[in-house]
Amino acid sequence: MADHDENLDPQLETFRDCLSDALIGRMTQSSTKTKTKRRRTKKDSQPEILPNSTPKQDNDDDGTAAEDLAEFIDYIATEAFESLPEDLRSLTRPAWTASPHLQSRYALPLTSSDTSALILPTLDPAIASSLTAYGVIDNDDADAVSALLAPVLTAYVTTLTATPPPPRQGRAQAEEEGCELCGRDWVPLTYHHLIPRFVHDKALKRGWHPAEALQNVAWLCRLCHSFVHRFASHEELARYYFTVDRLLAEEEVVKFARYASRVRWKAR
Ligand SMILES: [Zn+2]
Ligand SMILES: [Zn+2]
Repeated sequence: MADHDENLDPQLETFRDCLSDALIGRMTQSSTKTKTKRRRTKKDSQPEILPNSTPKQDNDDDGTAAEDLAEFIDYIATEAFESLPEDLRSLTRPAWTASPHLQSRYALPLTSSDTSALILPTLDPAIASSLTAYGVIDNDDADAVSALLAPVLTAYVTTLTATPPPPRQGRAQAEEEGCELCGRDWVPLTYHHLIPRFVHDKALKRGWHPAEALQNVAWLCRLCHSFVHRFASHEELARYYFTVDRLLAEEEVVKFARYASRVRWKAR
């Protein structure tokens, strides 16, 4: 892992992580949304899950596309981060907890209008053009940029101010194992309830799982975590994809994980 930057501010790193999730989500969303029914068999036309700019041929090209995309995300993240107010750029959990002022100034979730007031006055207009060129937003205008950045900022504040997660469990106990899907060990991880909490009652009532299975989690990077929730509904996750191995038995998941593993940042 020589080529990632370990000395980056945790705030900028978190911001980039939240932003990359939103950008990759947007670029893959339109194609996954069109699938109405989940199939467990391979279809003749593979759904395209990679960003629009990714060539359809396989492996090596994906690598290059992932590198380009990482560079693009890095650029947008750095520029947009610079435009944030100082108290957001230096946000920490202790500062947040101690300051009702911060908590009301950045009351969550942050909306598009909050975002446009916070970032847009100082954001380089070239950012909007780049986002349009990459197909992330349709119109090169302020509203589209604030709509894109509102959930990013909300995730940023939420992540930085969250209670630290419980210790890892099971096969991924060792911290250095990284994301259980893509294997990246230099990005922050989130935990995913393999049987989503939203369907716990139903899962018990219908006897899908014993009560003790409900607490099983997988440690996933933000990209893979969001992908998993785009890939399948809560109920589908609970019924068919309640282990990492079951997720990895799906070609679409493997393909995304392979793709995510190549999204790495250039060393500064
Ligand atoms: Zn991952
Ligand atoms: Zn989850």
